[in-house]
Amino acid sequence: MASTVVVIGGGYGGISVAKALDDIADVVLVEPRETFVHNVAALRAAVDPDWTERIFIPYDGLLTRGTVLRDSAVRVRPTAVELRSGTRIVADYIVLATGTRSPYPAKLDVEQAADGAAKLRATRAELARADRVLLLGAGPVGLEFAGEIKSAWPDKAVTVVDPAADLVSGRFPDEFRAELRRQLGELGVELVLGTSLRELPGTDPGRTGGFTVTTGSGVEITADIWFPCYGAAIDTDYLGPELRPARRADGRITVTTDLRLPGQHTVFAVGDVTALPELKMARAAQAHAQVVAENIRTLLQGGGTLASYRPEEDAIVLPLGPKGGVTYASEVGVLGAGPSADLKGGLFLDMYLELLGAVVAR
Ligand SMILES: Cc1cc2nc3c(=O)[nH]c(=O)nc-3n(C[C@H](O)[C@H](O)[C@H](O)COP(=O)(O)OP(=O)(O)OC[C@H]3O[C@@H](n4cnc5c(N)ncnc54)[C@H](O)[C@@H]3O)c2cc1C
Repeated sequence: MASTVVVIGGGYGGISVAKALDDIADVVLVEPRETFVHNVAALRAAVDPDWTERIFIPYDGLLTRGTVLRDSAVRVRPTAVELRSGTRIVADYIVLATGTRSPYPAKLDVEQAADGAAKLRATRAELARADRVLLLGAGPVGLEFAGEIKSAWPDKAVTVVDPAADLVSGRFPDEFRAELRRQLGELGVELVLGTSLRELPGTDPGRTGGFTVTTGSGVEITADIWFPCYGAAIDTDYLGPELRPARRADGRITVTTDLRLPGQHTVFAVGDVTALPELKMARAAQAHAQVVAENIRTLLQGGGTLASYRPEEDAIVLPLGPKGGVTYASEVGVLGAGPSADLKGGLFLDMYLELLGAVVAR
């Protein structure tokens, strides 16, 4: 009889582990959402109607032998997972891949694809009515969203406010931030840095309705719509008593170099939920997944030396609309708009359609 591997969370890390072990184990992928959500393209989907449906990719083609169970984990013990539905699955190995939540539209907070698409359409309609947009956060999400909005509606005024003195935290060279500033300047995005709002706008985020706010530094900003583009929430309350010591105060999960929870033989973690010291990226989640799949395979085949994961250096492709963006990786240095658009203009959609075994309708 094959061993059971339960993967909790069907995001970038979870689908990669599940697929890599489908041939050797009975894989059960637990995920509350109806489809995979390609959230790397969520900000484009909020402004471009051609992308609204594309970011929802069915799980049907992901696994050949294994199953995708539409449910969520409420309690995880070293050899069993309890689900919201009341089902209990006994597992030989468990992989925690529950990621993080970010304010909409960076990540969607609905389980049904149709609800997600309806929400994106409603946001686009609200944005279309607004002349002036305020984005809070000059990290990758705020800047990418500014670039998308300016590409879709060049005449809208877009202001980005952030308490940090410069754009995008992370270990990037000055040249990277200088090129970002240059392209944002060309797009006409206004940056108000080193200060934050005295009070949040009185309207709900993502809803059109005029407001004026003032920053701590005394800058008055009048806009018609605003979006929070910062912060990530981590929900790991599902960890049972044996696993709870691995949970840090911020909710992230500590892992050893073989990506198991400290002191645990059967429970691994991948992706944004881990406390690994690196940028939280889909690319990293998939690299974790490779190591975890290799290690579970080794254990299923009787044991041996387990592979180690080394956190990645900071690297990013930050799009500013379909034709712009800035890239940094130590191997290539800083790349400007053309090469960045070549790398990420398609937002890696084809790669995930292929991974999920989804048919490309063109
Ligand atoms: C706008 C934006 C653009 C980005 N662009 C890039 C990019 O270009 N390149 C890149 O590498 N990274 C990018 N990222 C980062 C990337 O999206 C994350 O690093 C990635 O989503 C992490 O994958 P994950 O599998 O750890 O978690 P997630 O993708 O967050 O998936 C977690 C899954 O777990 C499920 N889940 C949660 N709780 C439970 C539970 N209790 N039981 C069962 N399932 C549960 C959730 O429903 C979700 O589907 C971007 C992020 C944003 C917001």
